[in-house]
This record gives sequence, C-alpha cells and structure tokens, in this order.
Amino acid sequence: MRIAVLGTGSVGRAVAARTAELGHQVTIGTRDVTAVRAGEHAHWAAQHPEVGLATLADAASGAELVVNATNGNGSLPALTTASAPNLAGKVLLDIANPLDFSAGFPPTLTVHNTDSLAERIQREFPQAKVVKSLNTMTAELMVHPRRLADGAHSVFVSGDDAEAKRIVTGLLISFGHSDVIDLGDLSTARGTEMLLPLWLRLYGRLDTADFNIKVVR
Ligand code: NAP
Repeated sequence: MRIAVLGTGSVGRAVAARTAELGHQVTIGTRDVTAVRAGEHAHWAAQHPEVGLATLADAASGAELVVNATNGNGSLPALTTASAPNLAGKVLLDIANPLDFSAGFPPTLTVHNTDSLAERIQREFPQAKVVKSLNTMTAELMVHPRRLADGAHSVFVSGDDAEAKRIVTGLLISFGHSDVIDLGDLSTARGTEMLLPLWLRLYGRLDTADFNIKVVR
C-alpha cells in the first residue's frame, strides 16, 4: 500500500519505519521539508532511506492510506494543509490525542464527553474515512506490540466505514496485534481519547511508557 504518515514525531517515525519494513511504500509528510531535512530528523532519515519525505499535500496526494500522527492541537491545520481533495475517499488512520499541555502535567483534553478529535476531523473532512486507533499506547508498542512479555494486550478501533476499519485492522495485525477490539462507530473514539488521563497517570506511576491495557473477558 502507498502510505502517507503526517508528522515527524516519535509516532510518525515509528509507524513509517514499521510500515516500510513490512513492504509498504511510505512517505512522511511535514509542514517544512527543508527545516526537517536540516534538523535532527536527518539522522533518522539516514537510517531509513526507504521512507520518503514530502510536504503534507504531496505525501497525502500519492497515498492510499493517510496516517494522522500530528500533534493533536495541530491536526486540523495539518490536515487542512494536506488538503481535503488529497484525503477524499481515503482511509485516514487518526492516532492523535487532543492534549493541552499549556498548564503543565497532567495535560487536559481539549475535546471530550460529547465530541472527540476524531469526530472533528471527520466533520471537517467528510469524504475521508476516519478510523481512530493506536492512540492508547506508546509509539513503539503501537508497531511492536510483542515488546511486552504478554503481547496480547488490547488495541481499539473506531470508525463509521466498515471497509476502512477492516483495512486498519489488517495493518494492526501485521504489526503483531492480536486483540483488536472494534468499538463501533467513530463516536466511540470519545472513549479511547478519554482513556488518556488514565494512561498519563499510569505513566507517572509506573515510570515507563512500556505498558498497555489488556481487556480480560
Ligand atoms: P508530537 O510532538 O505530538 O508532534 C508530532 C508532529 O506534529 C510534529 O513533529 C509536527 O510535525 C506536527 N505538528 C506539531 N505542531 C503542529 C501544528 N501546530 N500544526 C501542524 N502540525 C504540527 O509527536 P508524537 O509524540 O509523535 O505524537 C503524535 C500524535 O500521536 C500526537 O497527537 C500524540 O498525542 C499522539 N500519541 C502519541 C504517543 C507517543 O507515544 N508519543 C502515543 C499515543 C498517541 P512537522 O513539524 O514535521 O510538521
């Protein structure tokens, strides 16, 4: 598959590296190609020559599946720059969390209860097929779930389009996930985004990001 990964943070890099390793054709999209090429991303890029780097719009235009790995506060602007026509008809895997760190730790959620970032993205880009997933665990675990001794921890999928969820689920399984829970329509992303306050408190308590939730039933 041709995949665009928007965002050059730890999530963008982890997803880009893993999907490229699995044989996909991957391009990372960024707001400023020149700055990113000249900055500390250059070292990572040298180790991953198979991953392309392009503007947000160029990356999205050539892709079949677009991954939103941008900062939650910048997701709508980044996707707007990527441009609606480049997202139309495509699976948009949204990993972003709507966190506001402006008052320090723990951050608050900028949207919650009756709405979610995923739904905001879907409303703004109605022709994209938004699927929320992977936002409830740390970047390396998203793509290497077997890092944990008990690799059968849970990953959630929310979305309105059944075929888009099937494609994302296939990707998750190819990463090594074995407990993929389809929560239902995109409004269920409210639950996974609101899981973040608990995740952040666990992170503070356990002193590591290498943990995840396993739904036992
Ligand atoms: P991040 O620091 O949240 O930022 C990712 C990228 O977003 C940046 O590299 C930047 O890309 C872009 N960005 C930042 N501010 C922006 C703005 N105002 N407008 C447009 N784009 C902007 O990186 P991250 O830790 O990789 O997290 C990515 C997303 O995944 C976040 O929403 C985060 O909440 C979520 N998440 C992260 C983890 C994790 O383990 N880190 C786990 C679960 C979910 P360019 O400068 O290249 O344009």
